Amino acid sequence: MNSRYAEQSTADPRTAELTESLSAVERRITRAVEAAGREQRPELIVVTKYFPAEDVIRLYDLGVRDVGENKDQEASAKAREVAQALRARDAQAYDADPLRWHFIGQLQSNKAKSVAGYAHAVHSVDRGSLLKGLKKVAAERAEPLGCLIQVDLREQVEEGARGGAAPEEVPALAAGISEAQGLRLAGLMAVAPLGEPAEEAFARLSRLHAELLAEHPQAGMVSAGMSGDLEQAVAHGATHLRIGRDVLGERPYAR
Ligand SMILES: *Cc1c(COP(=O)(O)O)cnc(C)c1O
Repeated sequence: MNSRYAEQSTADPRTAELTESLSAVERRITRAVEAAGREQRPELIVVTKYFPAEDVIRLYDLGVRDVGENKDQEASAKAREVAQALRARDAQAYDADPLRWHFIGQLQSNKAKSVAGYAHAVHSVDRGSLLKGLKKVAAERAEPLGCLIQVDLREQVEEGARGGAAPEEVPALAAGISEAQGLRLAGLMAVAPLGEPAEEAFARLSRLHAELLAEHPQAGMVSAGMSGDLEQAVAHGATHLRIGRDVLGERPYAR
């Protein structure tokens, strides 16, 4: 399973480093899947925010196809740069097997159109007012835009600080997405809140996902788990893990 990373040339030290960290993360996922007794292995999305296009190209060469970004300005430029470089090598090969960009950051309404232009999926749909902008561009795409509802898992939510839709807002938002032309309701996303065991938060997410599935059986994605809590996310049924620092290293700038 991990041999696809090891086969690559390690002449470039950064590539050698990424080969090693990717393999280590894949091993952690394997152990977590075994510990949970799961049959399905979750997909790995490598979060490349703050890292340059060159690293995304290295990851592509190591077999990674799913990458995550959290800011439109950075992501749109990087997606363009990477596609250009990889298509310059072999456009046909790249178009047949392209990178999938996952938008995982808080989305401003005025950026929705831009994101819908390059993203494979948006994991952070947290309010109905985003749908108008997403739909506008999604209608022109070959495939519908995957939309995940980001759920705020905090037990107590302070005014103003929003980390997703409240659980009770999910049904209406799900209905809005599934009725929108060009959008596809893909599942739920969450970040484990600070100050509470990730285990308990992901258990709540799993229950919310079961409720969503009862109404929308196609919404199978559960995007949960970061470098610090991937094991807990795997234990509670995550289908997509979003891993940044444990693959790429500490981010160059503090968030
Ligand atoms: C940055 C980020 C990640 C990756 O976090 P790491 O701790 O670097 O693995 C995952 N999800 C979201 C929403 C992020 O913003």
